[in-house]
Amino acid sequence: MNALETHQLAEALEALKLDTVAEALPATAQRAAAENWAYPRFLAELLAAERAERLRKRVALNLKFARFPHVKRLCDFDCAHTGGLDQRLLEEFATGRYVEEGRNILLLGPPGIGKTHIAIALGVSVCERGQRVHFTTAMDLSRRLLRGLERNTLRREINFYTQPSLLILDELGYLPLDPTGAGLLFQVLCNRYEKAKPVVVTSNKSFGDWGQVFAGDAVMAAAALDRLLHRSTVLNLSGESYRLRDKRKAGVALPSPAELAKKAASAETEADRAAEPTADG
Ligand code: ADP
Ligand code: MG
Repeated sequence: MNALETHQLAEALEALKLDTVAEALPATAQRAAAENWAYPRFLAELLAAERAERLRKRVALNLKFARFPHVKRLCDFDCAHTGGLDQRLLEEFATGRYVEEGRNILLLGPPGIGKTHIAIALGVSVCERGQRVHFTTAMDLSRRLLRGLERNTLRREINFYTQPSLLILDELGYLPLDPTGAGLLFQVLCNRYEKAKPVVVTSNKSFGDWGQVFAGDAVMAAAALDRLLHRSTVLNLSGESYRLRDKRKAGVALPSPAELAKKAASAETEADRAAEPTADG
């Protein structure tokens, strides 16, 4: 190739934004000559390099946009520890088919059994397939939407949560949402449902308690559940907290979540009794 042709090629690659092809060209051309490649093989090598680099950049961008609190992977999840889940199901999730089908995944159960781990790991694997994901807690989502309402940017905020291929809604039901925040969350769920875009939800509340989750509005809770469950996989996870298992192994006596709930309920009754007016006023 003469100098003019080399210049024209460099210009064309730049105009087409084929940066990796431009970078890989000299070394690939040398190898092609040394190993006697046919022209299609040469072109295929260059385009494969361009494609791989574009995917790498997209994945890095997707992981940044997703705002995971930390990166977790499905391969690091020990199914034997957590009940209600098996390896085959995790493998099926890893294919990302549920995203194409618009199928929601609901992960329910007590604290420490890996709900957030699985939710993040699902998100990471979707990012790695080149699709957009956003991770948020239910509380953060409702706060952001309330701010949008105050600042007249609600439409934009709702789009922000509607657009990603997968939305992960962590800790639904941990903290009480206020009625307006619950209504805005419901709007996001409706929008995603209409577009058949899936949501992964984690919650410590069983469906019977979802009235509370939606600020005491049982009708809205039922309508939200109706949309979430229509196309869904529900996993009721069980077992002891993974966070506490080492403590238990070391012989530290720890109450179970059920024991803690019982203690909290009896403390509430005690407090109510103490607050009741006595016969002598
Ligand atoms: P949850 O969201 O249910 O409260 P997390 O997902 O935050 O629980 O899990 C708590 C910690 O224990 C995390 O560091 C998580 O990676 C780990 N963990 C929980 N269950 C498992 C499991 N079955 N295999 C591997 N790690 C687990
Ligand atoms: Mg969690």
